[in-house]
Amino acid sequence: MTSTALPGSDPALLLRSRGLRVTRPRLAVLSVLAAQPHLRADQVIASVRRSGEVSSQGVYDVLNTLCAHGLLRRIQPRGDVARYEVETGDNHHHVVCRSCGRVTDVECAAGEAPCLDLPETTSLHGFSVDEAEVTWWGHCPACATTP
Ligand SMILES: [Zn+2]
Ligand SMILES: [Zn+2]
Repeated sequence: MTSTALPGSDPALLLRSRGLRVTRPRLAVLSVLAAQPHLRADQVIASVRRSGEVSSQGVYDVLNTLCAHGLLRRIQPRGDVARYEVETGDNHHHVVCRSCGRVTDVECAAGEAPCLDLPETTSLHGFSVDEAEVTWWGHCPACATTP
């Protein structure tokens, strides 16, 4: 998956590009999610705390700040807790396992948002629309073979 939306993948550069101070907790959260996308907040907390002394609240604050500045993307599967991933700007979608909750990336067929074509006759009630959120649901290979 390639993207030119963000200046490289150096976490310190990413933070500076958004005018954010470079702090150890922010670097830790970005590197955890770069290595393993779609983690829940508690999983991010567990990984980050292994590498140093950061409070749970500190990790939540970092997650919120990085989402607000467009460095992280929060995905909220229906009926599930939020997952986090590094924002790649590629408008990709997700397929979610109904059974184990596994989240996997699906490349956007259209390539850019909003990627769903609306029939000419469909009105969006005057809204200026820039994104369509698409989530596919089913069973992952592991769950599909488990009776
Ligand atoms: Zn599954
Ligand atoms: Zn993703």
